[in-house]
Amino acid sequence: MRISRLSMLSVFSVLLLWMAGCVSGYNPVTGENRFYAYSWEDEREIGAETDREITAQYGVYPDRSLQAYVDHVGQAVLQESDLRSPAAPAKFRNSPFTFRVLDSPVVNAFALPGGYIYITRGLLAYLQNEAQLAVVLGHEIGHVAARHSSRRVLKSRIGQVGLLAGSVIGSHVFESPQLTKQVVNLSGTAMQLLFLKYSRDDERQADRLGVEYAGNAGYSAGEASGFFQTLNRMSERQGQTLPSWQSTHPDPGQREQKVVELAEDLSSTTQMTRVRSEAYLSHIDGLVFGEDPREGYTEDGVFYHPEMHFKFSVPAGWSVQNQKTMVAFGSPNGAAAITFQLAQANTAEQAARQFSESQGVEVKDAGQTDVHGHPAYAMTAVAKTQQGVVGIRQYFIEHRDHVFAFTGYTGLQNYANMRAIFEQTLRSFATLKDPKKIDVSPLRLNLVTLERAAEFRTFVASLPEGVTAADVALLNQTRLDAALDAGRKLKLPAP
Ligand SMILES: [Zn+2]
Repeated sequence: MRISRLSMLSVFSVLLLWMAGCVSGYNPVTGENRFYAYSWEDEREIGAETDREITAQYGVYPDRSLQAYVDHVGQAVLQESDLRSPAAPAKFRNSPFTFRVLDSPVVNAFALPGGYIYITRGLLAYLQNEAQLAVVLGHEIGHVAARHSSRRVLKSRIGQVGLLAGSVIGSHVFESPQLTKQVVNLSGTAMQLLFLKYSRDDERQADRLGVEYAGNAGYSAGEASGFFQTLNRMSERQGQTLPSWQSTHPDPGQREQKVVELAEDLSSTTQMTRVRSEAYLSHIDGLVFGEDPREGYTEDGVFYHPEMHFKFSVPAGWSVQNQKTMVAFGSPNGAAAITFQLAQANTAEQAARQFSESQGVEVKDAGQTDVHGHPAYAMTAVAKTQQGVVGIRQYFIEHRDHVFAFTGYTGLQNYANMRAIFEQTLRSFATLKDPKKIDVSPLRLNLVTLERAAEFRTFVASLPEGVTAADVALLNQTRLDAALDAGRKLKLPAP
């Protein structure tokens, strides 16, 4: 996380304006009129509002040249899309698109309605060439052009705050959707945890459109099968959290085949020769790889924040999601959560008072305390949410010029079981002083040209801690026993 706090409440109230209706509108892909939850104008407005939240939450990757490059490829693919077809009404043709690289290690790409496309640095690391990038961006343009979000919202009759926004982010901290919703309702800050899937038909259509748009822009779209193969291999690996693009996009195996067939069909009528491997790789040389420890990291059950100089313990077996505006942990069974974030207040007591005045919150006990020398205010409360009553243990802690809200949540019936874990975790907050834990830097992809032909594994004999040869094989869309030629370029993570 960073020291930034997004006013989620304002985003929520804006989104509330767009309670889903049922609007007849034009589908740029089929050229027919269909029913949607939102008009195109509403979709554009929702996209613009939510874009502010996404960029605040995930952060834009700080490399202008890389941003410009991804935008350039995206705009070229967009030119070949149904949204730029002479047959499309002017309001579609004139809608500008924004392409952004997000500063997240999660392997993900997604679109917001109305023309906002995101790709993470985590996904960029796994691509080998510009043609693959073009198909991934084309797939997301396809979701926007076919107005899939707007259709999903209508079909599921959800039409509620944030779900449209949540549909696209695809990060899921907690196993239990119910708890996720509770956390969202309470804090109003976890909208991104919501998760609405496109249908398989939507995904197939987006794949087809991605190949078509990228192919018509001159890209060798069949290259994308190498990336789908990588996704497939990731999903085969045990004990690893599935990256989001893969968990929302079923059957990477089938897609790997299908994308080749689609590209072959198209190539009979279209010149599709652009691969641009060198250009692509030179743009991601030096890309940050994996978690950026400067924004917080977990080691041996302790979360450290080297820039904000604090640490606290993480309960054994809990998953940790470190986001820009908060750190969230989920219990192994998904029944409880702990969040850590900035509170907008000058003192712990003021923050506690603000919280106790929130709607539906009933404070059971509250009082001044001290956590490892930090002035703090501890509180036990219950809160009514749409999903039931939740038990809350919360500490507001003063640290330097900030007040942090450290909060444990669970269903009321489970609260007695969780109370000791909550208390232990919240009270573990302390100032970080150890220079070894403070002086950390991220891994970066280092582009290396092979001077000799040899098996891949010989080039990855020594790697930074926490990175395996198998990881690096995936990164390079190759295998440990693959025979590589001299002159081939490899992406190697290095400190
Ligand atoms: Zn998709």
